Amino acid sequence: METTTCPKCLGAKRFPQYANIANGDCFVCGATGRVAVARNRPTGARGAAEPVSAACALATLRVWYANARRHGAAWFADEGESGVGMGAVRWYAAQMDAATAGRVLAAFESLAAECT
Ligand SMILES: [Zn+2]
Repeated sequence: METTTCPKCLGAKRFPQYANIANGDCFVCGATGRVAVARNRPTGARGAAEPVSAACALATLRVWYANARRHGAAWFADEGESGVGMGAVRWYAAQMDAATAGRVLAAFESLAAECT
């Protein structure tokens, strides 16, 4: 699993000033100095881990759909590089109600089929 430096203790593993409480071990990382990186978000969209509102997701996907139309296959092939592509589209679609998500995914999928 990919890990990153603990944001609480900054890798120090314990807090000397709290040595009277469980040896001062950092509870966030379990005194390892490392925490797992959350992977349930589009790659490249760092800092966007918080769920977005359905309206915001829809607005984002409208822009992406316009970009995908303009750039064609290159937009879909760019997945992982830019944080866009179908993986990211599905992530945003998951923030919406099922009916809207279904329409959005169908639109992107038919566009992808035209382009590739
Ligand atoms: Zn820690």
